[in-house]
Order: sequence, then C-alpha cells, then structure tokens
Amino acid sequence: METTLRGVGVSHGVAIGEVRHMGTAVLEPPAKQIPADEAEREQGRARKAVEAVAADLTARGNLAGGEAQAVLEAQAMMAQDPELMADVDRRIAVGSTAERAVYDAFAAYRELLAAAGEYLAGRVADLDDVRNRIVARLLGVPMPGVPDSDEPYVLVARDLAPADTALLDPTLVLGFVTEEGGPTSHSAILARALGVPAVVALPGAGELAEGTVIAVDGSTGEIFVNPSEEKKEQLAAAAAERKAALAASTGPGATADGHKVPLLANIGGPADVPAAVEAGAEGVGLFRTEFLFLDDNKNAPSEEKQVEAYRQVLEAFPEGRVVVRVLDAGADKPLDFLTPADEPNPALGVRGLRTLLDHPEVLRTQLTALAKAAEGLPVYLEVMAPMVADRADAKAFADACREAGLRAKFGAMVEIPSAALRARSILQEVEFLSLGTNDLAQYTFAADRQVGAVSRLQDPWQPALLDLVALSAEAAKAEGKSCGVCGEAASDPLLACVLTGLGVTSLSMGAASIPYVRATLAKYTLAQCERAAAAARAADSAEEARNAAQAVLSGE
Ligand code: PEP
Ligand code: MG
Repeated sequence: METTLRGVGVSHGVAIGEVRHMGTAVLEPPAKQIPADEAEREQGRARKAVEAVAADLTARGNLAGGEAQAVLEAQAMMAQDPELMADVDRRIAVGSTAERAVYDAFAAYRELLAAAGEYLAGRVADLDDVRNRIVARLLGVPMPGVPDSDEPYVLVARDLAPADTALLDPTLVLGFVTEEGGPTSHSAILARALGVPAVVALPGAGELAEGTVIAVDGSTGEIFVNPSEEKKEQLAAAAAERKAALAASTGPGATADGHKVPLLANIGGPADVPAAVEAGAEGVGLFRTEFLFLDDNKNAPSEEKQVEAYRQVLEAFPEGRVVVRVLDAGADKPLDFLTPADEPNPALGVRGLRTLLDHPEVLRTQLTALAKAAEGLPVYLEVMAPMVADRADAKAFADACREAGLRAKFGAMVEIPSAALRARSILQEVEFLSLGTNDLAQYTFAADRQVGAVSRLQDPWQPALLDLVALSAEAAKAEGKSCGVCGEAASDPLLACVLTGLGVTSLSMGAASIPYVRATLAKYTLAQCERAAAAARAADSAEEARNAAQAVLSGE
C-alpha cells in the first residue's frame, strides 16, 4: 500500500528506486587482553590501519574535488592526530588489542570534544566515521558506507558522513534520504553540489525495509513508499516537464517581465568553478574561502597559495562578478590556530568576523592576497565579511579592506538578526548586503543548524525570517545599494520568487540549483512575485507561507 512520509527536501529532482541502507556501523570490538609481547605488533597494526584510512580519505578527496575535498582532507588529518595516536599506543601497551584501543581512544576524544562544547554534531559525525573506518580495517570487515551494488538504488542512512556523500556515484545513487541533518547541514550542501535529489530529517527513515521501492521528491521533501503506478507516472511526468522547462530556459536570471535577478554560484574553491560555468552562473555570489584553510588546521595558507586560488576563480569570470567572503572560522568550522577551545557555546562565541578582528594579521594577509589576485583582471570583485553584528563591525571590516589597498566593493553578510534590524546603519559603512539565511535562521530561531530535531525552525519559509529579509532589502533599496541572498534559501525555486518579491537583488546557490531557479523565476512577473511575497509574510507558519505563495503564483 502506498504511504507518504515527509522530511525536508534539500536537493531538487525526483528519484524512484529500491532502498539500500548504508553499511551498518562497526560493532564494538571485544575488550580482550593481549600478552605484553604482542603490544609492539598491535601498535604497528594500528598505525598501518590509520595510515591506510588517511590515504583512502585523501584519495576520495582528490577524486571528489571542491568543498568535499577539503572536508575529506580534514578527516584524514583527524585520523592522524598525534595525540590520538599516542593514546592508542598507550592503550595497547597496557593490554588492549589494536581495534579496541582505537575504539576507546576515539570515544575518549569524542567525549572531550563534546564536553568542551567545541565541536558541533557535524564534526562528531566526521570523527565517528573516521573511527569506524579504522576499526573496520583492523577487524577485516567491509567498510561502513555506501553499499556495493551494480543496480541503481536510493540510499537511506541515519546521517551521511562527508566521506560517503563525496563518493556517491550519481549514476548508481538515484537519491538519498537521511533521518538526521538539517537543510543547511554539510551533508545537504554536499548533496546539492552533487546534484542528487535528497531529503533529510525524515523520522523513521532507518525503518524503511531494504529493497522497498520509494519515490523521493527532493523539492517537496515527500517520500512515497510503495508508490502506485499512477503516482510513479505522475512524478515521472512532472520530472520530465521540469527537465524540458530547464533545457528551454537559458541566459541571465530574470522574471517573466524582464526584471533582472543575477543568478550566481556558491563555491568552496577553484574546483567548483567548472560546474558553476556550466550551469550558466553569472558569477560567484559566495566564495567560502574557509575551505582553503581547512587543509592545515594549524596555520593559515600562505599569501602566495591564496593568491593562486583566488586568481583561478577570478579568471573564470572575466567581466563577471565574484563575491569573496573572508574567512568564516569557528562554530561548525573550527580552526585550531584561531578558534578558542573553551567556549561553552561556539556558535555564539568568537567566530566569523569576530575571529578576524582578534587576528588582524590573518585578515590582512587574505585581503592583500585578494588585491594581488585581482590585479590587472577585468573582474568585478566584491569582498564581504561573515557574521557582522553592527555598524562598528562593518566599519572595522571596511577599514581593513581600505588599509589593504583593495579595489573592490566591501559588503556585510546579514546572518545575525541585529544586522537585519539595523541594516541602514550598517549600510553607512559598506556598499552591499548579502543575506546568509542559514545562520540568520539559526540565530533568529535559536535552532542549531546541525540538529535534525530542530529543522522545522531552520525552514527558510518561516515568516519571521522573511520579515528580516524584507527589512534588509528595504534598507538597501532606501540607501540605493544591493542586497543579495547567498544562503540555501536562494536554491528553492519557489522561495527564490518570493525573495525577489521581497526586493532581493541577486540569488546565489549551489550550481546544480541554478537551472531550476532560472526556469521558475522566468515564469512569473515581478508583480506576481511581490504578491506571493506579501502572502507568504501574512502567514503564521513556514508551511502556510509556502502554500500561500504557491496559491498566488499558480493563480488559485
Ligand atoms: C549562511 O549562513 O547562510 C551562509 C551562506 O554561510 P555558511 O552557510 O557558510 O555559514
Ligand atoms: Mg553563515
């Protein structure tokens, strides 16, 4: 019998196929004692397994490229953490087997991190994944992870570690569904980068029986279990219609009546540029430069290395627009050499611009590298700061840009409600705003973006979030300046129309979403978008807002 489940759609498209579950977690190795004369051999075994896992993660990273590569390399470094290895050696020296020592050492490390409040759920999932890989290798059992299958399937998992999402083969993995994870978690961002339909935060996903046929609608978040032939045909027809509309829609982003809304790409580094160009991005709306820093958690990348990476991106968009965000370290993206280790609430602590103002040398190097990279290029460079709270923050950033001799527009991200509420005051210091709706939702609703249980509050359709978007866009208009959106909200085609109606001037998203947003925007006039925006703001919940906007746009 057909049943319908609802999670959060995070990556567009429809996938119909059989459920395959992610390789089960590694069992707890037995706590048996080994004789003292075996310790050295066990230590050798542990070291070899760690090295092999680190090499495997690095190789997967090289294969995946882009944002995924940085995440996988960070995991490879986690595996080889010298303190962790020393703990493994110590445990073996007092009688543990290699697998048990690895298991216990990682558990101790995990507890330490959790107690320090230092790592958020996403990082703990990465750590567990590294441990499972090492223990599986030592036990000689299959690696946990993506199932071995020659037939296409829908992957179902509790949560997906970056190592797995990076390796998903779009020709075999038709789509994926996870029980955990919010719409702005790393897994969701990586899924969009891959262009695989995905639904996250689906309670009970783990109970879907292996081999059951399901249809995943990554746009609506619906899962149809045992879909009828009629439902399959209906979904396939809708998908075909969408595909045809996508193919027919090309060129710059605009509404049906020609109101221009540049469609830009979110990238993590030069490796993401080809997909952005192919999707017809009119430039880059968010270059997340922190991925350049994740390679080496102990030092900032040299000025030369930064110049090279920035130049590669700038050269790809001659005469186009590239918005570079300076380093956004801290909270879910901690860097050992910058992020305080003892904060009780890292998301509310020293992160983003706050980190850079505490380490002006890091900001100076980055701005100087950007100035050098842009030298002689016809590109239209914009540089923005993450986590700007008030006018003083905006001024400090603009001053640093001027001191570095940067010839670019300076902007502020609106990720903290105070910045939206006082956008006009911030605009006295900078030339543009860019709404980071992922963090803006997190801080507006006091809902951690990594926690699936609060994903309802991370829904960018929440009318309170739309109010803050409207405030920011109105302030920018009054000041004669621009206000884009670069958070994940921009990748939802219907919401993109509403954002346009709220007065947002550009939309930046993962490359795979650009064709969907372009095609949908082209169907409606600016006046229709404005009416949809007003209807959404008049609603009392995210769901009502979505339905109200849909009703206006479909002329109901
Ligand atoms: C955001 O917060 O919306 C944003 C674009 O920044 P990030 O997702 O990198 O925190
Ligand atoms: Mg952010």
